[in-house]
Amino acid sequence: MSDQGSSNGRPGAGKEDKRFDTKLIHFGGEVDSATGASSVPIYQASTFHHHDIYEPPQYDYSRSGNPTRQALEDYIAVLEGGHRGFAFSSGMAAISTTFMLFSAGDHIIVTEDVYGGTYRLLTGILNRMGIEATFVDMTSIDEIKAALRPNTKAVYIETPSNPTLKITDIAEVAGWAREQELLSILDNTFMTPYYQRPIEQGVDIVLHSATKFLGGHSDVLAGLAVTATESLGRRLKYMQNGLGTVLGAQDSWLLMRGMKTLGARMAYSESSANKLAHWLSERSDIYSVFYPGLASHPGREVHEKQSSGYGAVVSFDVGSGERAKRVLNAVKLPLVAVSLGAVESILSYPAMMSHASMPREVRHERGITDGLLRFSVGLEDIDDLIADLQQALEQE
Ligand SMILES: *Cc1c(COP(=O)(O)O)cnc(C)c1O
Repeated sequence: MSDQGSSNGRPGAGKEDKRFDTKLIHFGGEVDSATGASSVPIYQASTFHHHDIYEPPQYDYSRSGNPTRQALEDYIAVLEGGHRGFAFSSGMAAISTTFMLFSAGDHIIVTEDVYGGTYRLLTGILNRMGIEATFVDMTSIDEIKAALRPNTKAVYIETPSNPTLKITDIAEVAGWAREQELLSILDNTFMTPYYQRPIEQGVDIVLHSATKFLGGHSDVLAGLAVTATESLGRRLKYMQNGLGTVLGAQDSWLLMRGMKTLGARMAYSESSANKLAHWLSERSDIYSVFYPGLASHPGREVHEKQSSGYGAVVSFDVGSGERAKRVLNAVKLPLVAVSLGAVESILSYPAMMSHASMPREVRHERGITDGLLRFSVGLEDIDDLIADLQQALEQE
């Protein structure tokens, strides 16, 4: 098993100092070193021939290492500014493999509005294995500090959170975690490294559902992780190889293809999302709008300190469950679906989709009301999207 991360293309060395949009295209694996081909070949092979039994090949078996997956793993490490990247079969595979760094008896402090699948993993699976979690409001450092126990091993952050886009101060929480000798882990799915690079702010492990903005086309399920240090990289490599939660070569290639346009897609969708959020906030029939780019958004200043943009997800409350369902059935452009971060806009209904399994009272406490809709803004013309939403809001 090759334990050291290494690119199969032109070495990324010398490109680290380039600006982000340049790194998206020139990440090290953009040209095949053997042939000069303009994209990384798909190495559709499970095993690799030993030309000389005394000199094992760099790659020996695709669970342990595959050149196409390696190019993707190096790519995300460059983008996040971390030491080593990892690609998994889904976002949940990245998250669950990372949690396998912990042992029975360990305790983790987790943001209370964590992604539903992560909540299920912690409360339905890892709890049976003796890994405990306390869920806290991470907008408050005092609540985080109050949850500390002698057996606490990590803090798990999501910012902005889903679907009400609450903001956690990354540097403050990661700094405190370091003082307490805890690992800090951050799910960066909503912002992507285009807008937010948590390792630069002291976070130890960054996670992604690459199914969302990184892939960007609603056609591949994948997860990514980046570790800040070599020693953490070695520990996570052991987990990835031991658990076998790897991403296949075809999907690794497809994900890299999507990632090359991340910057162009994020910038376009964000400018549209900004327009949509302001349009919604001026309507008297919308009860609340959640978007970090709005002046009224709680935590906006913290967000601006740690992120270079506001993203492409806008949540808003239309007042009632009946009205939300009328809107969902009347829109003609967005996909009505779970998921987000794609070229096509996606309208989700958290109360009946992502948060359906949460008791109604808990849901309401977290601001996930029956009238709340989540709009992931895609690449359509924003004036068409707004006109479509307007006709849907005006349905009786
Ligand atoms: C979708 C999502 C996940 C899970 O990713 P999958 O690719 O669906 O397994 C984790 N975190 C966040 C924030 C997500 O949106």
